[in-house]
Formats: sequence, C-alpha cells, structure tokens
Amino acid sequence: MATVQLDQVNRKFNQVTAIEDITFKIPDGEFWVLVGPSGCGKSTILRSVAGLETVTSGQVFIGDRLVNDVPARQRDVAMVFQNYALYPHMSVRENIAFGLEMRKVDRNMIQERVLTVARSLSLEHLLDRKPKQLSGGQQQRVALGRAIARQPQLFLMDEPLSNLDAQLRDDTRAELKQLHQQLGITTIYVTHDQIEAMTLADKIVVLNRGRIQQIGDPQTVYASPANEMVATFVGNPPMNILAAIYKGENFDINGQILAIPSDVQTKLNLNPGQNVNLGIRPEHIHITPDLSSLVVEVKVVEPLGRETLIRASLPSSSTLLNIQVPGGMRLHPGEKLNLQLDLSQLFIFDHN
Ligand code: ADP
Repeated sequence: MATVQLDQVNRKFNQVTAIEDITFKIPDGEFWVLVGPSGCGKSTILRSVAGLETVTSGQVFIGDRLVNDVPARQRDVAMVFQNYALYPHMSVRENIAFGLEMRKVDRNMIQERVLTVARSLSLEHLLDRKPKQLSGGQQQRVALGRAIARQPQLFLMDEPLSNLDAQLRDDTRAELKQLHQQLGITTIYVTHDQIEAMTLADKIVVLNRGRIQQIGDPQTVYASPANEMVATFVGNPPMNILAAIYKGENFDINGQILAIPSDVQTKLNLNPGQNVNLGIRPEHIHITPDLSSLVVEVKVVEPLGRETLIRASLPSSSTLLNIQVPGGMRLHPGEKLNLQLDLSQLFIFDHN
C-alpha cells in the first residue's frame, strides 16, 4: 500500500495541454475517483501514475519514491481497464496466476493466492474455463482478480465497469467497494458515472480542461461545489442554471419576477442590476398552487418509478429545468406549472 502524490504535473502533446498543474496527495489506502467531461485529462493522469505516459514537467511520487523515471513494470501498480484484456487461450486460473508467474512466485503460493482471490470474487467454480466461456461481468471479475492477486501497492482503474450492463454494473460496483474495504489498497479510479463516483469515492477530483476544479468528499462536492462547472457536472439530474438579473428584493428571470425572502436577501452579496447565474438542484424545486410563482411549461415527462423527472421550459426561453416530482403524479407535455424554488438552497455563479 502506498500514498500517491502529484506535484505540479503537466503533460503536453505538441500544442495541446492535456493536464496542467495537477497537484494532490492521496493518503495510503484511500479510494479516489477522477471525474470530468471527456477529454478533461482523467486518463492522462492515470497513465502518468502508471508510467504509461511521461510527464512534461512536475513530479509523481508513489510512496516516498519519485517515479518520473521509473518504468511502468517497476512501479508495482495494477491497472484494470474497461476492456478486460484477458489472455483468451488461458484459463481463468492461468489468467489470475499470470502476473505471479512472471514474478516467479513459488508455485504453492500461487495456487493458494489464486484460490483466495477466486473465492473473494465468487470465481471458484469458473477457474478452468476460458474467457470466451464467461459473461462480461465474469470476465471483468477475472480482470480484477488478476490485478488483486499481484497484491500491488496501488490500483489504477479506468472505467472498469463501463462495458457491463446495468444490473451487473450495480453488483460489480458493490463488490468493488467491498473489496476495497477488505484490502485497503490505495486506488485511483476514472469514471464518468455519477453513481460510481458518489458511492465509491473517499475523495472526488473534478477536472475540466486539464485542470483540477475541486477535490473533496462526494457529499461536500455535491453540497458546496466550487464553481458552476462542478455544480452542473456532479449530481444527476444536474443542477439547474437560470440566467437572472438581481433587483434587490427579487430576481428577474427572463421577465418573470422571483421574490427573494428577506433572510436570503441579507446573505446575498450582489449589486442591484447585476447579471448572475442562479443554480438550484432539482430536489429544491417544488410544484406550488401559488400563481404568483415562476411559470414553466412541461416539455418532457420521464417516469422513473419512485419519482418522475420533468423537463420544463420558461416561456420564450430555451433553458430546460430539471424537476423531480413524486412518481404517482400525472403530468403531460404542454401543461403549465407554477414552481416554488427553495431559495435557501440557491447557488449564485458569475454570469458568463
Ligand atoms: P479523458 O480521459 O478525461 O477523456 P484524456 O486524458 O484522454 O481525457 O485526454 C486529455 C486531452 O489530451 C485531450 O484533449 C486529448 O485529446 C489529449 N490527448 C490525450 N492523449 C493524447 C495523445 N497521445 N496525443 C495527443 N493528444 C492527446
């Protein structure tokens, strides 16, 4: 097990800066998740730690060791990718044992470790099968097993569940969490899946355009996003953003007036006439009979069982608001709704 530290790491590909000024330190045994839109630099960070990428500047430490010039195979890390990359001609047993045999570990020890790993991943009954005789989920468990068997000091996982179907994905995610609790091996995990990030992470690192936007535990990042990018990226359905003009006692949202309760007014540090972006999470918007409230038109109704997701637009605006209502509620496209926004839960961002 090990700490991982990146200190002002940059990676440029000709003119393209893939990652810039990346600095963080992962304590021993923690599970960190890198999230951000496609192309924001997640894989480049992972590959820089793995040694598959040479950094342009900055320092990468695994434990106390500066590894910038250490080849990948000497870094004692195990990677798991979305494509399982198993050896097709080898059995499950041989696939799991492969890394150990390369290291010339004692035969009995290998047998024992393969069995222990297979047991922890419920693969015992599949040890003599070839990869093509396994389901996708089983293959991914074998890939995990191969990584675990090596007992590396660090796991690096790049979207390891993204090729699995929904149910398997949920199950494997829970297994991963349990495994981490048992083994306590420091892990860096890349995903664009909100649920994986929220449920697995000790800390989330939110990236955008190669730069760190925020590092924090999932709940903190959700409740106190550092900026609009983080606010709209973390959370599903995403936070709503409404362009507004601050008028002192109210906000003007596309011509509609939203009164600001006096206790909220005192907390706002805004100048009358200022353009702002208001951020409000779907769970803080409620349908109200109050006709003086914000009026929207229902555009899309998506029943999800326990709740229904509504997408609604402000009159003469293309902005769509995400609203969550109880599952039993019957709403139809074209219907007008009055909305109450819980302004005690409002975020204010610079207008861009
Ligand atoms: P992510 O994993 O978040 O999708 P990447 O780390 O793969 O992002 O990529 C970050 C940026 O670096 C992107 O703009 C990508 O096009 C660029 N990039 C990554 N690898 C290379 C490469 N080998 N050559 C040129 N550009 C690259």
